[in-house]
Amino acid sequence: MPKRNELEQNALQIIIETGSKGVLQSELWRKMNASSREGSRISIKLESKGLIYRERELHKGRWTYRLYSKRKPISIDSIISCPCLTCTESSKCEAGGTITPNDCEKLTMWILESAGGEANPPGE
Ligand code: SF4
Repeated sequence: MPKRNELEQNALQIIIETGSKGVLQSELWRKMNASSREGSRISIKLESKGLIYRERELHKGRWTYRLYSKRKPISIDSIISCPCLTCTESSKCEAGGTITPNDCEKLTMWILESAGGEANPPGE
């Protein structure tokens, strides 16, 4: 029988993979071969750790929860516009070097724009 941490990790991975549509608790337990009691315990634990959130939903006449991850699955779309991918300085760029990501305005601007915040260059 898998350890509790492994069950939580498996559950979280499944929930992350369902993305924005989430997954009903009962579907998750079925995929994991877990009992509803064990499944409820896992979802409460994941919620208390701040990894997921639950929304009540009426499904086939019964109230249940749909589970959503607070983490988003990583996709190539999220990094395709990163300036490092096409940077002519990338071969010379390293932590602690003359050219470094720690002090790169292009990278900083991209991170700020990706985060949806105001893109102010460092020092301004
Ligand atoms: S951190 Fe800046 S300098 Fe370094 S590879 Fe990325 S864009 Fe180029």
